[in-house]
Amino acid sequence: MADIQEAFLHGQLLERREKLEAALTTSEQNASLRQLLNEVDSALERLEAGTFGVCETCHDTIEKDRLMADPLVRYCLDHLTASQRRALEQDLELASQLQRGLLPRQNLTFAGWEVCYHYQPLGLVSGDYCDVVTHQNGSEDVYFALGDVSGKGVAASMLMSQLHAIFRTLVTSGLSLQLLVERASRVFCQSTISSLFATLVLVRAGQSGEIELCNAGHCPALVHQGGRALELGATGVPLGLFCEGVYPTHKTKMSCGDTLLLYTDGVSEARSANEEEYGVERLKELAASCPGLSAQALVAACIDDLKAFRAEAPLLDDLTIMAVRRVA
Ligand SMILES: [Zn+2]
Repeated sequence: MADIQEAFLHGQLLERREKLEAALTTSEQNASLRQLLNEVDSALERLEAGTFGVCETCHDTIEKDRLMADPLVRYCLDHLTASQRRALEQDLELASQLQRGLLPRQNLTFAGWEVCYHYQPLGLVSGDYCDVVTHQNGSEDVYFALGDVSGKGVAASMLMSQLHAIFRTLVTSGLSLQLLVERASRVFCQSTISSLFATLVLVRAGQSGEIELCNAGHCPALVHQGGRALELGATGVPLGLFCEGVYPTHKTKMSCGDTLLLYTDGVSEARSANEEEYGVERLKELAASCPGLSAQALVAACIDDLKAFRAEAPLLDDLTIMAVRRVA
């Protein structure tokens, strides 16, 4: 495991140790606290000995995202006891419910805009971020966000909820889109370890059809405007990569029937049974071939096409698509 992650986990363990010792001096002898303290000490010893992150049954590497979420784990997923497995499944189910609770309502319509999305985690939880926020600071603007946290599973889903909280807090501040993303990147950078980052497309849509879009290292956003297809590519690096990123924006105006399609690489990098990649071009052509569809029908058409393309091939990543359509 990378040194930086070990250093992070070492710090985490020392912090827990200090808290446990403080709790032990204030409460009467508590057996479960003492047990936890022993487990923390044992993890610190494993770090010292260089055996940290190695399964005690098979001596294979323990899944990195599980260690990041809980540095005390000692067994890989294949070697949990039945009760550990049950507890893990219950935790994941709860995390999944919490994450579903963070999603925006489905098929929203606002003055002049309709939006629909499809959110499909690979496992129980997803590292994709999907959000819609309206009416901040007394304006009629609508914000659409779609992002992808590096990695998969539990650690990615925890960062996804952090991104959700950062964005929801900043969007009330009245900052310009560019400053909002710059601030979000700084906060995200300061609050995560340096090997983790998130790509994000953030869109502010105004009442009279104007949109401003910032793309932080994410797949190109696809705009279909009066029969033309445009790709709005990255204007900056992923969030959290550098604390001082600069994020210029794209601006355009949408007319009735124009659509904006956002998606994660779980869509564009999906594979067919013969290892062919789905690709951005295919998505672009599909959206161009059905200009009259509602946001909901466009999302459904994309999902159907992707399913047909994959046939029996398994999904490899979390998958999210969002369609925004300008309506009368
Ligand atoms: Zn094992």
